[in-house]
Amino acid sequence: MNYETIIGLEVHAQLLTKSKMFCRCSTDYASAPPNTHVCPVCLGMPGVLPTINQQAVEFTVMTALALNCTISDYTRFDRKNYPYPDLMKGYQISQSYAPFGHHGWLTIEANGEKKRVGIDNVHLEEDVAKLIHRTSPGGESYSLVDVNRAGVPLMEIVGEPDLRSPEEARQYLMKLRSILQYLGVSTANMEEGSFRCDANISIRPQDSTDLLAKVEVKNMNSFKAVYRALEYEAERQRKRAAEGKKLAQETRGWVEERGITVAQRSKEYAHDYRYFPEPDLAPLVLNREWVEAIRSKLPELPEARRDRFVAEYNLPLYDANLLTSSILMADYFEACMRGAPQKSAKPVANWIIGEFSRLLNATNTGINDSKVGPVALFDLVQLIHEGSISSTSGKSVLEEMFHTGKSADDIIKAQGLSQISDTEAIEREVMAVIRNNAQAVADYKAGKKQSLKFLVGQVMRATRGRANPTVVNELLEKKLEEG
Ligand code: ZN
Ligand code: MN
Repeated sequence: MNYETIIGLEVHAQLLTKSKMFCRCSTDYASAPPNTHVCPVCLGMPGVLPTINQQAVEFTVMTALALNCTISDYTRFDRKNYPYPDLMKGYQISQSYAPFGHHGWLTIEANGEKKRVGIDNVHLEEDVAKLIHRTSPGGESYSLVDVNRAGVPLMEIVGEPDLRSPEEARQYLMKLRSILQYLGVSTANMEEGSFRCDANISIRPQDSTDLLAKVEVKNMNSFKAVYRALEYEAERQRKRAAEGKKLAQETRGWVEERGITVAQRSKEYAHDYRYFPEPDLAPLVLNREWVEAIRSKLPELPEARRDRFVAEYNLPLYDANLLTSSILMADYFEACMRGAPQKSAKPVANWIIGEFSRLLNATNTGINDSKVGPVALFDLVQLIHEGSISSTSGKSVLEEMFHTGKSADDIIKAQGLSQISDTEAIEREVMAVIRNNAQAVADYKAGKKQSLKFLVGQVMRATRGRANPTVVNELLEKKLEEG
């Protein structure tokens, strides 16, 4: 039997507000000592009252608009009740019945085609405290509670089950992250926990509408983990179905080290969170003019920027897509191109996407923390383009720039890397190579054209990569015709 995979993602993103969702405590807790950013409200003391953070509402409305949602006229907060040690009040203030935005979508590329993925709703809630699990020297395990994170504004984006493969899920997440970063509403960093994803995944027989069993997967801390967990789970469910075993409706946790999901708890068909309207907060009726003002202030989003890169810099769609997937990389590219002619765009893009990104990834460096600024990178690309150095030398020069912060010019001078375009010098090497490789020369004359490549390689080797390859090619062909 053929099965189809059905995936829907729920994403929680911490918002970049200065203060928490319902109190004045600072959200800047990442490096703060435990339990220093707390007050009676976020500690969940009895008798205190929450106040809504307007900036958080604005960020949520911005996001909902960017995700093509309808903005609700009437919204409200609800209490989601469940007992857990990290939940200070015993309930989370969330939105269940009247979220800020609903019925939106974002687009991904699936098998080379654009695909719309539905967004059920975008709503606002609060983060919970952090539990830190320890083991004493005696081997006893215990847990500590750090309340700093409790009450940080958390925006939840609930996607429709429109995704059909782990690859589509990965693309959806990357697109969503990029939109949040462009809007400046969240750092959307999965590794740091400001962007968290829960996945609902099930399979169903092809051409059927009956899902076998809805499984929720949690604990994925990177894009790669989401992809691997979904691949594993789609495969596990198919295997069980093939063996005729029943699939349980349950929550499973991804175990990174083992590359598997394990059952955590079986799930009731409907959660009993006993939602009811939050009695401490009045409903919000959003002013339409305010909403429209936010809409008019929306920044250029990734897709619009990608299309502009294609039109303005004449870049291939593939390059434009990669460059604009990160707002920082797109900004860096445009800083390189400031005042530069359009024809520089493709080589600049190549070096950013290729060698520069490789160095950033290998050293886990952010593009803005690198020692190579946009002007320095542009200068290097120019030197290569003018033929002052070969692109092979360019790679080692960039690496040196990356580690020392020196300019391309200084490195080229110090290492004597300037490319040899002087025909006489190259001619000497060409003649030597022709003399020493009689067999290859004979092959070439007998019509074996790839021998030329070999001979070019020999000249490049003799000049330690410094000869201008175009000149070498021309000279070799000329000399071989003559001889
Ligand atoms: Zn507080
Ligand atoms: Mn939630």
